Amino acid sequence: MDLKDKAVLVTGSSRGIGLAIAQEFARQGSHIILNARHAIDDEIKAQITQYGVQCWDFSADVTSMDSAKNLIAQIMEQVGHIDVVVNNAGITRDGLLNRMSEEDFNSVLQTNLVGTFNVIRQALRPMYKQRSGCFINLSSVVGLTGNIGQANYAASKAGIIGLTKSVAQEVALRGLRCNAIAPGMIDTQMTQALSAKRQEEIVAQVPLKRFGQIQEIAQTAVFLAQNDYITGQTITVDGGLTMQ
Ligand code: NDP
Repeated sequence: MDLKDKAVLVTGSSRGIGLAIAQEFARQGSHIILNARHAIDDEIKAQITQYGVQCWDFSADVTSMDSAKNLIAQIMEQVGHIDVVVNNAGITRDGLLNRMSEEDFNSVLQTNLVGTFNVIRQALRPMYKQRSGCFINLSSVVGLTGNIGQANYAASKAGIIGLTKSVAQEVALRGLRCNAIAPGMIDTQMTQALSAKRQEEIVAQVPLKRFGQIQEIAQTAVFLAQNDYITGQTITVDGGLTMQ
């Protein structure tokens, strides 16, 4: 796919990996639809428009199907098309199983997995009509390996891999693709919240001996959008942490 003048929605793009993905698509000449639960600062939008592309910001909570419906309707009304959907919005509520509340389990599943489904479900109709486009879903290496204290997060991210493969098979006949990215430990607010000791322990396990940078995930998203013969795949970007 030639990304110039394409419309790219990145959910959860007010900061971190989502914002880096939005910037990388903007660098390729794509117009960007930013999204988070709250309105996004003009300063952040300027990081997109510096590339000479258009930038919209539609607040929506992806946990709600109605909100996802409204988000896609706004895009179709104001942008007119939607070519790439990056399902990036995600949260963590870590805790050991015997202390994990039902609320913490459900809210992580609802944001990460159901939120991804909601947005894909609503974007399908306009994208089917176009008969072109792709979905890119943010999974995690934890979805492949599991992790102590992250039963909810690992379940949601493993679910995204199954969802990605099913969507890929279903939409292929209509000319659409669907892939996932499984990042390892990436330097963001999410990982900066870990104690220094825990961060050191993790780095020690990574063959490349460092955290990944958000730009390294963003480059992968752009590659997956550009390459028209990749679908149903989960690309791991983790410094070698999980080799299979
Ligand atoms: P951040 O916490 O930095 O950013 C999350 C983004 O999602 C924010 O823009 C947040 O904005 C938005 N968001 C959260 N909930 C919702 C919602 N219900 N509806 C819409 N937007 C929402 O996360 P990261 O950049 O660290 O991670 C991005 C993705 O990458 C996530 O899916 C994460 O699981 C995945 N990932 C991250 C890794 C890492 O090392 N950081 C490793 C592996 C995967 P707001 O709160 O204003 O709504």
